[in-house]
Amino acid sequence: MISPCTLGLRIKSYQSTNVSKQSSWTIKHAEDYYGFKRWGGNNFSVDPQGHLCVHPKGDHRKIRITDIVKEAEASGLKPPLTIRVQDLLRHRVTQINEAFRRAIEEEDYQGRYRGVFPIKVNQLREVVEEILDAGEEYDFGLEAGSKPELIIALALLENRKALLVCNGYKDEEYIELALMGRRLGKQTIIVVEQLSEVDAIIRIARRMGVQPHIGIRVKLTTAGEGKWADSTGENAKFGLTASEIVLAAEKLAKAKMKEALRLVHFHIGSQVPNIATIKKAVIEATRFYCELKRMGFPMGLLDVGGGLGIDYDGSRSAFESSMNYSMEVYARDVVANVKQLCEESKIPVPDIVSESGRALVAPHSILIFEAIDRITRDESLTQAPKAKSHQIVRELEAIRKNKRKFDPLERYHDAKQKREEAHARFSLGNLRLEDRAMADRLFWDICRQIRQSLANGTEIPDELARLDSMLAEQYVCNFSVFQSLLDHWALDQLFPIAPIHRLNERPSVQATLVDITCDSDGKVDDFIDLEDVRRTLALHPLKPGQPYYIGAFMVGAYQDIMGDLHNLFGRVNEAHVFLEDDEEDGFYIEESIPGYSVERILDMIQYNSEDLCRMLKRQVDKATKADSVRPREGVAMVDLYERLIRGRTYLIPHREEKSSLRQSRPKLK
Ligand SMILES: *Cc1c(COP(=O)(O)O)cnc(C)c1O
Repeated sequence: MISPCTLGLRIKSYQSTNVSKQSSWTIKHAEDYYGFKRWGGNNFSVDPQGHLCVHPKGDHRKIRITDIVKEAEASGLKPPLTIRVQDLLRHRVTQINEAFRRAIEEEDYQGRYRGVFPIKVNQLREVVEEILDAGEEYDFGLEAGSKPELIIALALLENRKALLVCNGYKDEEYIELALMGRRLGKQTIIVVEQLSEVDAIIRIARRMGVQPHIGIRVKLTTAGEGKWADSTGENAKFGLTASEIVLAAEKLAKAKMKEALRLVHFHIGSQVPNIATIKKAVIEATRFYCELKRMGFPMGLLDVGGGLGIDYDGSRSAFESSMNYSMEVYARDVVANVKQLCEESKIPVPDIVSESGRALVAPHSILIFEAIDRITRDESLTQAPKAKSHQIVRELEAIRKNKRKFDPLERYHDAKQKREEAHARFSLGNLRLEDRAMADRLFWDICRQIRQSLANGTEIPDELARLDSMLAEQYVCNFSVFQSLLDHWALDQLFPIAPIHRLNERPSVQATLVDITCDSDGKVDDFIDLEDVRRTLALHPLKPGQPYYIGAFMVGAYQDIMGDLHNLFGRVNEAHVFLEDDEEDGFYIEESIPGYSVERILDMIQYNSEDLCRMLKRQVDKATKADSVRPREGVAMVDLYERLIRGRTYLIPHREEKSSLRQSRPKLK
């Protein structure tokens, strides 16, 4: 067995990573293997032709994802492509509001739910606007964590019944801007993160003649859990300790601004996998709320921050890429615990605010990229070694034939040792290149034999369990992990990844993914599984001339904005998809945003494209004058350079390649 994974408490059973070999392959197997129903709920299904479909509203209406890709391609947007399923985004907004509405009804809770969307999780205008539109009937508001985000929120949030929560470090300008919101009749609340902010708010509010609404972020003893746990607890960089809260309360009382204090806020980090952690935090924060109320502040709002998770691997466990609760359970637990504590303290219940970002926006966005090539683990053995090959080759051949029926582990050790010996001899000049190549091929063939001989479900020694990833092929994919799946690189966060077509064919190749950046970290070799993680993903053999599309799912939270410009690839193309109302299974692309051109990305790092063109042209002219380049050839070179500087950064797969030197376009002025 593989040893327990250090990431979580789950033990891997070997069986779960394998594509069943016995029965014939059906779309049901595909749904099961890639986990579409587990992590996607009612939002994904596979049609009989093997295409993955998205159900934006979780009902029977569906869109083939390959159709979206085709439609986007027709308008010039080739993968890598971000597809935003706008109806799915709206659906999530409705879901969280309804979950709290039901919980409040069931618990007979006397307060309301007043959610806000934290802009930092996805700042794209279309995303924020869609959320506000879908949330209008629930008076859904916004949360800002910086001046630029507040600038967005002030303009976009017109609903006067919705909250605008201002978090993050604040300077005077930030506070002024927030108070300006109050003057415009908005429900702006400034959440104090540092004690020093209290004095600043009092001073600026007096100067502007505005009655501020203030919240206090409390530093809880309850630490978060999961990847962001370190940012919480006593060492958190945000929030006030109990004694600072007492000081803040005194400052407000002294300034005759007791009326201002309305809200208690906490945030224990994102993607909290365990509901028990959330409960503990809610209980502790409610105690702070009740105490402040008892001290005579008006209060009225309890803000439980973010942290509501996404079940990326569909395992419903306390594993860090998962969660052991649902949105409904979350809402019920928050409401019930706040109610119970307030009743015990004989304090009227507050309205409940939550700042769920990830849970709202992660599911709506799908990244589509193309596998354009593969790197195999040494070619297969096409012929047996010649009788007069080097002795070491003959020894490996004997291990391969295994006449003495050694057990797998022993064979593996022998083969490994012989191969190391072959490499050492090669370095010393005692082995020819042809023999070394044969030694490598024999070694990999032995590994493949051993792998095949291991029955599913049996106890497999650690070393042999690693054969799967050693033997895996690498699919070269036209995208950048650093731009589009940053958290996978930075935090080992798992995203569901699966082909979006050919799902009625057995995926017979065990593979890992590598991106097109020149960085060995630009890869995906951890995949979701029901238990633990898979080291390889079963994919389909690539067919020449036919694109093979892979999707990375639930990438709508954080990835967009945190992606970086490694190797200068930049943002990918984007298509915003809506369901067609009066047409069964129809859809339209409302908006498309082209990815970065080379020119645009160069401009960000201070290269002016016209200057570059001029510099290149000067060199071409020089070469032409020196007769090393013919004039016509020189013109074609400049044309190519100018055309590509306006072109896209990502690769254009070979099948579309045209002889670029022969095409010419209008020149840059
Ligand atoms: C990041 C952040 C959130 C959003 O957290 P999610 O886990 O994405 O819901 C909410 N509130 C604050 C203060 C944050 O910093």
